[in-house]
Amino acid sequence: MPLKQIAILGSTGSIGVNTLDVIRAHPDRFEVVALTAAKQIERLAEQCIEFKPTIAVVADAEGAAKLTQLLQAKKIATQVLYGPEALARAITESGCDTVMAAIVGAAGLVPALAAAKAGKRILLANKEALVMSGNLFMQAMQVGGGELLPIDSEHNAIFQCLPDRFTKNPSAHLGVEELWLTASGGPFRDRPLVDLSGITPEQACAHPNWVMGRKISVDSATMMNKGLEVIEAYWLFGLPLEKIKVLIHPQSVVHSMVHYRDGSVLAQMGQPDMRTPIAYGLAWPERIDAGVAPLNLTQLSGLSFTEPNFAQFPCLSLAFAAAKAGGTTPAVLNAANEVAVAAFLDDGLPYLSIPNVVEHCLNALPSVAASSLETILEADALARRTANDFIRDIKR
Ligand code: NAD
Ligand code: MG
Repeated sequence: MPLKQIAILGSTGSIGVNTLDVIRAHPDRFEVVALTAAKQIERLAEQCIEFKPTIAVVADAEGAAKLTQLLQAKKIATQVLYGPEALARAITESGCDTVMAAIVGAAGLVPALAAAKAGKRILLANKEALVMSGNLFMQAMQVGGGELLPIDSEHNAIFQCLPDRFTKNPSAHLGVEELWLTASGGPFRDRPLVDLSGITPEQACAHPNWVMGRKISVDSATMMNKGLEVIEAYWLFGLPLEKIKVLIHPQSVVHSMVHYRDGSVLAQMGQPDMRTPIAYGLAWPERIDAGVAPLNLTQLSGLSFTEPNFAQFPCLSLAFAAAKAGGTTPAVLNAANEVAVAAFLDDGLPYLSIPNVVEHCLNALPSVAASSLETILEADALARRTANDFIRDIKR
């Protein structure tokens, strides 16, 4: 069997490291041809020394010089590139057939689109890319003729619970009534909003069930993550928004469900370990060992499902509103949230101000048709400026 040639965008992050963990266990199936990271040069160097990709990409010239030096010392012949444009080159010039899109945030959009246009199999973790550019991205997939496999655990679960014909043609609904996205509710699930004024980044990042990067951990605490996932599901599966529901399920055992017209509900269950959806995407339509412990149902104390309390999670309401508005509004939502979360993590913005920043941008900025990449990137840039101005005013 020929080896699958894998490019990993964001290889030093939580998803990137888990992807390499699965690949490491299957040298007879996968070969790494491109790795990229923003700033973690030493970790990327270790990965290049182990996996010997054709191309490695970092954010800037300084990082590239350091990486080159570290690789030369070990006589590794990987070509080192830098800058945002080099991310697309890692896809088109490395000879990859599969791209793990695991950059966090809007920075992943342009390379993910390049992978779509080039007809690659895309394993999509970078939900922000799809939230920003849904229609454009799905069109690029169609033109490129590649395959889009969701890695986000909820969407991967739904993908696993859908009939094969549905996944190849999302508009033919084949008796699908609703999609039920499960959500743990994050670390503050049972705490009223008024209690959360002094929350620190460490508290917000301490997710009860999953270990993830810092941005998505904060998004899970505010439930913006679930809002982004509703928009992600809308584009991936082509169902009307009102047929995509959110259920709070604190145990994180059922990763999501498909409710069929005949009354059947299909659920995918497993440990909260991203190596399961990653292995599924890498090997699809086959299944391989992901290194994940089996689920022991007899040790579970019970599974519960409740409706989310929207008043407790304003970010979830804002995301539904942005999804309904359509056009460039989801890109505005995403950009404002990225700025607010970064300001909370690194710059002292109060936790409870995150939804205020997002709401301000949604109210201040118009929604226009998201007809081109330029329009989307303009909306993203304007939302970032608006959010930063607003944050400066709050802190004054
Ligand atoms: P992370 O912060 O751990 O890693 C992000 C990666 O992107 C790193 O390799 C970093 O170097 C790179 N990166 C960051 N900014 C960049 C930039 N401007 N240019 C180029 N590269 C850049 O994030 P993560 O938790 O691995 O999440 C990655 C994506 O996967 C996110 O979109 C997240 O929503 C999604 N996701 C993650 C999980 C999870 O369990 N971690 C689950 C579902 C979905
Ligand atoms: Mg998820």
